[in-house]
Amino acid sequence: MSEDCIFCKIANGEIATELVYQTPNTVVFKDANPKAPVHLLVVPKKHYATLNDVDDKELLGELMQTIQQVTKKIGLKSYKVHINTGKDAGQVVFHLHIHILGNK
Ligand code: AMP
Ligand code: ZN
Repeated sequence: MSEDCIFCKIANGEIATELVYQTPNTVVFKDANPKAPVHLLVVPKKHYATLNDVDDKELLGELMQTIQQVTKKIGLKSYKVHINTGKDAGQVVFHLHIHILGNK
């Protein structure tokens, strides 16, 4: 857990947020400023600043499976996934998160 990290606080329940889905090591919640009719964020519970910092293959697999499972749960068959990695790519929150964008 990284102090003052908003996504750590959400993932650890310190900030009450409605979770759309969760697995042992990931959580999914709605983006606060949605850029599509469905805009979810898939976040590892453990703090990693960017995709480049993750060396855990099992966690990378779990994140991908979480995408499959949550989209199935909400009946979203067609969607994009998006990971901003680094400031120059537009990353603003430095806790790894995967955007799921759908036009349901
Ligand atoms: P990025 O540019 O990839 O770092 O995207 C950060 C995303 O996090 C943006 O789409 C924000 O709307 C979203 N966001 C920031 N704070 C919160 C929050 N407290 N709850 C939900 N989404 C958030
Ligand atoms: Zn964090």
